[in-house]
Amino acid sequence: MNTRLLLALLASTLSVSAQTTAFGTKTAEAAPAAAPATAPAATAPAATATAPTTKPKAADDEVDNSVVITPFRALTPPDAKTTRTFQLSKMNKLGFTETSKELQRLFSAFATQRIVDGSPNGSSKATGYLASINYSLIQDLGDNRFLAKAAWPAAGPNEVLAAGVDTMAILLLDKPAKVGDTGKISGMHVGTVALLFTANYPPLVGKRFTLRREAFVECATLEDTPAALQKFVEEVNAGADLSVTTNEQVPCKKCGGLGFTREAQKGQLLDKRIPCADCASSGKVIISVETKFAP
Ligand SMILES: [Zn+2]
Repeated sequence: MNTRLLLALLASTLSVSAQTTAFGTKTAEAAPAAAPATAPAATAPAATATAPTTKPKAADDEVDNSVVITPFRALTPPDAKTTRTFQLSKMNKLGFTETSKELQRLFSAFATQRIVDGSPNGSSKATGYLASINYSLIQDLGDNRFLAKAAWPAAGPNEVLAAGVDTMAILLLDKPAKVGDTGKISGMHVGTVALLFTANYPPLVGKRFTLRREAFVECATLEDTPAALQKFVEEVNAGADLSVTTNEQVPCKKCGGLGFTREAQKGQLLDKRIPCADCASSGKVIISVETKFAP
């Protein structure tokens, strides 16, 4: 599954103009009171309790239970600063950095960046950050989509995806579930979405408003097992184009790993040492590296 498909599943409509239309219609009906509902970034459902409550009498007594989920803030995919190649044929040979231990380390990272699907390789690159999510379902949004109270650890390089603690999130589960269910899934972050819906959980029952929340799609990750590693090696040897992005500590370029630069002093025998700002004098920097695998 690609992100486009996932988002299509997650969203009732991908069209932003459709969202605008929906808001326009609502605003027109409920008049000025509807304005707060479209205010940016309601941080908690309680904060939106001021959303329109006064419906025009007799105009529409029936509850609008339609759900609109639209992409709100796109993902920021990992941006590798540099690339290198891991050549399997050099593995464990004197003078090369390719070792079995290094291959295992990179494969473990690779496994956490792939989702199992129906592709020929059995898995494909995850387009969002993967996280282990504990959840408790609060509202059923239809089509296996749920509003949930969730918790997940920070994910991605430099923890781009912040950790969630008792946070409202939108989940697309693999199987039907019911409100009140709790569980743990492996989820792929598909960005922040805007959810327009009518709440049916206390104390917001009947309130219609927009929440902007992180959204996750349940998925299975590639297993980090010796058998999976063996299959991976076979795929690379057969010519598969596979790579993994990791954070690596490398010597600082500016100071050559020394932690300081030198400046000649007139009339002095010794150079002045200037602490390197690029690496905070540590001599090392952490950068995102894409490692490509080759036979
Ligand atoms: Zn430096």
